[in-house]
Amino acid sequence: MNTIQQRLSQLPKVDEVLGDSRIAEYLETTSRTLVVDAIREVISKYRQQILQEGESASSFDVDNFFYHLIHEIEERKKPSLRRVINGTGTVLHTNLGRARLCASAFDALQEASAGYSNLEYDVRKGERGSRHDHVERLICQLMGAEAAVAVNNNAAATMLCLSAMACGREVIVSRGELVEIGGSFRIPDIMKSSGAILREVGTTNKTRLSDYTNAINEETGVLMKVHTSNYQIVGFTSDVELKELAKLGKETGLPVVYDMGNGLMADLSQWGIDEPTAMSGLRDGADVILFSGDKLLGGPQAGIIAGKKEYIEKMKKHPLARVVRMDKLTIAALEATLREYLDSAKALRNIPVLRMITESAKKVKERGIRLLEETRDMDHMELQVVPVQEQIGGGSAPSVVLDGFAVTIKSRIPAERIERQLRKQDIPIIARVTKGCVYIDMRTVGDDEIQVIAESLRRIDREGKNQ
Ligand SMILES: *Cc1c(COP(=O)(O)O)cnc(C)c1O
Repeated sequence: MNTIQQRLSQLPKVDEVLGDSRIAEYLETTSRTLVVDAIREVISKYRQQILQEGESASSFDVDNFFYHLIHEIEERKKPSLRRVINGTGTVLHTNLGRARLCASAFDALQEASAGYSNLEYDVRKGERGSRHDHVERLICQLMGAEAAVAVNNNAAATMLCLSAMACGREVIVSRGELVEIGGSFRIPDIMKSSGAILREVGTTNKTRLSDYTNAINEETGVLMKVHTSNYQIVGFTSDVELKELAKLGKETGLPVVYDMGNGLMADLSQWGIDEPTAMSGLRDGADVILFSGDKLLGGPQAGIIAGKKEYIEKMKKHPLARVVRMDKLTIAALEATLREYLDSAKALRNIPVLRMITESAKKVKERGIRLLEETRDMDHMELQVVPVQEQIGGGSAPSVVLDGFAVTIKSRIPAERIERQLRKQDIPIIARVTKGCVYIDMRTVGDDEIQVIAESLRRIDREGKNQ
């Protein structure tokens, strides 16, 4: 037998490992399949290493083997969808789940999921009810709308709206508003899928009212405006304001649909956010408006459609309504979030997205200083609080820059390694590395998360000794 064969023959068999007392507790607390898969994986890794290293492979170390195995089992035990700490400073980080929900929303989620609910049951009358009712009245009240319906997300809202209002007919949209919202959501594609025919007018930088007027013909079904929520065209530009388009709609008897994207429902102009509010969309004459639930609204993933009853009723009855309908958990979270807006001062305090956006740089800095104080005793890392600029993200208010603070880490441990270690923590911390320096942005870090970050940093610092 040569050395390689000898090394390979030292590797344990799955059954032997299963019988070892070191993993007995895992067989009780988790599934056998998970443990067996983990054992196979670790044995296979050892085998590959021996084959790679050949003669120089070290002999089998059983303690080392079980150390790796237990780590592998622990990793596999973790749920796939997990909480992370957002140290990026981007408030609406689509990859990190967009909006952090308000406390009343997670209470509502728990309440609605732990038992049965009146999802489609009218408790007062003792008969079948509608799932739409739970949020419709609230939306109408908050927005001054005749009717409303909420669906899975704003992409679904656009699809349902165009299918119900413009299938087989032309929808006039400005070339400057043919938005792509990340990945596969492009207005022209959604239009095609809904069966509506896109009629582009104007140019990328300039569209005039006469462009719409000239394009109207007997095939026209809808005049559509799309809020360019994730980009801005600057320079020699002009577009047609909603008010003007609404006037044209009235004159020609065509409905005006406004895809507003971000769903801002509080006045944030005082904080430099000049986005149109959802309320202004209807006030300025749109017949139907659409927006997301998990952007500036600060709720769960949802698409909200509000406006004239005749159009909303058509959408509710459309076969697609069933395809894109919201589930009870989302309804629960959305209702609770919307309720916060009944008192706008409360909304600014209680809805994390709004609280984060409106928080002063001074407050953000204070959290950084607290983190600094919690980690004074480290040997290999030194923290500093530095001013940074942050974005709202999630395709909302792209030109707004928030002045905030981040904690940077001075260390002889390479920044990439620290960043990687931060991601490996039980609650992964998502930081960024710029010019060889790690930044943990404090705007998106909650008060309750400072301690967790501090403990993680101290752990990484201790391990820093061993490298
Ligand atoms: C974000 C956005 C959408 C898509 O909304 P989702 O809720 O992410 O599906 C559609 N239109 C506009 C203008 C947007 O900003």
